[in-house]
Amino acid sequence: MHHHVEITSSMASSDSPRVPLIDLPQPFDTKISRDRFKLVYNGNRELLSILKPCEITEKHVDVTCHHCPGSPKFATVWETMQHVFNEIHAQNINYIGTSKDFFHYKLLLKRVLVKQPLPGKTTVLENGETGKYCRGPTNRQILFIQSLRVREDVKFFEKPMKCLLCQLDMSNFSILDVARHAFSIKHLEKALSRCNMFFVEEFEWWMEKLKTSSNLIPSEPSESAEYYVGGLKTIIGNRYIPVFEKLTEKELNLISNVDEQKVRENEEVLLRRFGGCIYCDLWIPTPTDIFPHFFSEQHFEKVREHHPVKQFDVDDVMSLVKLCQKSDC
Ligand SMILES: [Zn+2]
Ligand SMILES: [Zn+2]
Ligand SMILES: [Zn+2]
Repeated sequence: MHHHVEITSSMASSDSPRVPLIDLPQPFDTKISRDRFKLVYNGNRELLSILKPCEITEKHVDVTCHHCPGSPKFATVWETMQHVFNEIHAQNINYIGTSKDFFHYKLLLKRVLVKQPLPGKTTVLENGETGKYCRGPTNRQILFIQSLRVREDVKFFEKPMKCLLCQLDMSNFSILDVARHAFSIKHLEKALSRCNMFFVEEFEWWMEKLKTSSNLIPSEPSESAEYYVGGLKTIIGNRYIPVFEKLTEKELNLISNVDEQKVRENEEVLLRRFGGCIYCDLWIPTPTDIFPHFFSEQHFEKVREHHPVKQFDVDDVMSLVKLCQKSDC
């Protein structure tokens, strides 16, 4: 509501030593143009989205962002990078940075990438063409699978079949059951930990298969715009301070003051970052369902099965709640 005041008043503070893109450059440093910033920024963000944490990124740091509401704190390199490239932060620092700042992250991301070599066999597809990388399915693919119904319950496999990643017996599964499992967030997370990334073609193969199956009741593809949904993250429970207890009065007010129109305007960011929940094994392909899910008691209970709820994760969703407020009246 009045958080703009907070941002400007805290503009002056910064970490020491200065953290690239978290703290503003010195006045005499040469800044890159806004367009150039966005271009390089998006490139880094795409790369970051396919990486997984490793010992480099789990390194302990003590960083505070003085440009985002609430001055969020980060305890690891990974948390810091996630924040730097979460888009909202870029808006809050007004797209100000130097080429040296980006060079810092380029080196860092490369060092992480080297730790996660791509298996050679997957770079070329069966038909000899090179595949396009992606980080998971799109919201439209999920919506399509969710809308399908079985016409006839026919077994998909002729022989006994098991998903080896999940140790799941799929022998009696219909084509829809198999597809739903193949697209489930838990299964994909396991697959991702083996192969580091997916190919667009793997998901499209399923779409074709489902569209042409005579055992399914055809369904119209969704009208909404297409974005890759985020949410495939590894559950890390070793470090969870500070712990979230409950939402404050102020936060509850912010949540109840969310403007659905603004949620739709920020559809891309919301889906890309919170389009799925690994704890609840659930895709959330409709942006208006995201806040209700991540602030629900059921969700917090699922998280607590693994570790206490991290304040950091709640603040992360809250930063988008703040972005989607009804204008003051
Ligand atoms: Zn920030
Ligand atoms: Zn599986
Ligand atoms: Zn959840």
